[in-house]
Amino acid sequence: MKKAIDQLSRPFKDLRISVTDRCNFRCRYCMPAEIFGPDYAFLPKQEILSFEEIERITKASVNLGVRKVKLTGGEPLIRKNLHQLIRKLYEIEEIEDIGLTTNGILLPTYADRLKEAGLKRINISLDALEENLFKKMNGVGASVEKVKAGIDAAIQAGLKVKINMVVQKGVNEDEIIPMAEYCKVKEIPLRFIEFMDVGNSNGWNWDQIVTKKEMMGILASRYELIPIEPDYYGEVAKRYRLKGSDSEIGFITSVSETFCSECTRGRISANGSFYTCLFAQSGVDLKEDLRNGMTDTELMNKLNQIWNNRNDRYSEERTEESAVKRKKIEMSYIGG
Ligand code: SAM
Ligand code: SF4
Ligand code: SF4
Repeated sequence: MKKAIDQLSRPFKDLRISVTDRCNFRCRYCMPAEIFGPDYAFLPKQEILSFEEIERITKASVNLGVRKVKLTGGEPLIRKNLHQLIRKLYEIEEIEDIGLTTNGILLPTYADRLKEAGLKRINISLDALEENLFKKMNGVGASVEKVKAGIDAAIQAGLKVKINMVVQKGVNEDEIIPMAEYCKVKEIPLRFIEFMDVGNSNGWNWDQIVTKKEMMGILASRYELIPIEPDYYGEVAKRYRLKGSDSEIGFITSVSETFCSECTRGRISANGSFYTCLFAQSGVDLKEDLRNGMTDTELMNKLNQIWNNRNDRYSEERTEESAVKRKKIEMSYIGG
C-alpha cells in the first residue's frame, strides 16, 4: 500500500530555476553528444523565461514560504547577463540564500560579478581529476585545469564553494579517493551524487549505480568517516567529516536512500513550467499565464494549489520499469 505523504510536513522552501537548456558540455550522464548534437532543437529565445518573469515567479514563491533559490541549467553561466538576474533576486528581502550550480569553466570571467550581484554560494561540478577521463566524461574535451581555474576564481571572489561529483560504475569510481584528497587539501566540501535516471537520454540502468554504501566502502580504505548531524530540516546530503581534518564530504542518495518525505523543492524549467519533482513526466506551464496578464495573486494561488496537490514520491516508487521506460523531463531542462 502507498504510504501517504503529508504535504504540511513538506513545505515549499526551495526553488530551483533553470535559466537555459543549453550547455557548453556534453556530459554523457546528462546530455550525451549523440542526442544533443548539432541538429538538436534547443529552445528558441522566446520560449525561455525572461529575468522579469523569473523574478515574478520567485516573488510569488517567496510568499508561499520559499527562502532559498538556486540557479541552474543547462549551463547557467552561458545565459547572458546572469548577474542582472542575481541582483534582482538579491533585492527580494525574504530570500536568505542564492546559489548556483555550474560546470565552472566560465567562472574566471564571471565569478567577481556574480558575487558582487549577491550570489552567496556555488556548486561546481567536477567528476574526475584524471585528464583523459574528464575530457571523455564532459564530452567536449574540456580540461580539468579549466575547472580548477574556475574553482580558484570562485574562492578568490569570496563565494562559498562546494564540488559535485556524479559517480558512475565502471566510469569514475577510481576517482573517488583522488577527488576526496583534492577537496581535503583545498578545504572544499565534496558531494558524491548517485547517478540518477533523470530524463530518457542518458542510457541509465541500475548496473551503473555506485551506491552511497559502496562509495563509503571505497573511502573507508583511506579515511575514517564521522557522521555530521543535519543542519536543517530537509537537508538532502548525508554528511560526514574526514577524521583528523575539518574536511566534509556528503552523499546525494536519490537512488539508494530516498528522501521524498522531506522534499521541499519546487523547480522551474527553462521554458517556464513548474515541476514538483525532478522525475516528473510533465509540469504546469506558467509562461503563457504570465504573458497573458495573470496577476501576482493569481500566480501565487496557482503555485499554492499545485504544491498542495502534489503527491510526488518518485524515488520511493522507482522500479526497473519506471526508471527506464517512463517518459521524464530531461536534466538540461530542469537542472538537477
Ligand atoms: N551545468 C551545471 C552543472 O553541471 O553543474 C548545472 C546543471 S547540471 C544538470 C546540475 C547537476 O546535475 C550537476 O551537478 C550534474 O553533475 C548533475 N547531474 C546531471 N545529470 C545527472 C544524473 N543523471 N545523475 C545525477 N546527477 C546528474
Ligand atoms: Fe551541461 Fe551540467 Fe549537464 Fe554537464 S551536467 S551536460 S555541464 S548541464
Ligand atoms: Fe523530491 Fe521527486 Fe526527488 Fe522524491 S523523487 S525527493 S519527490 S524530487
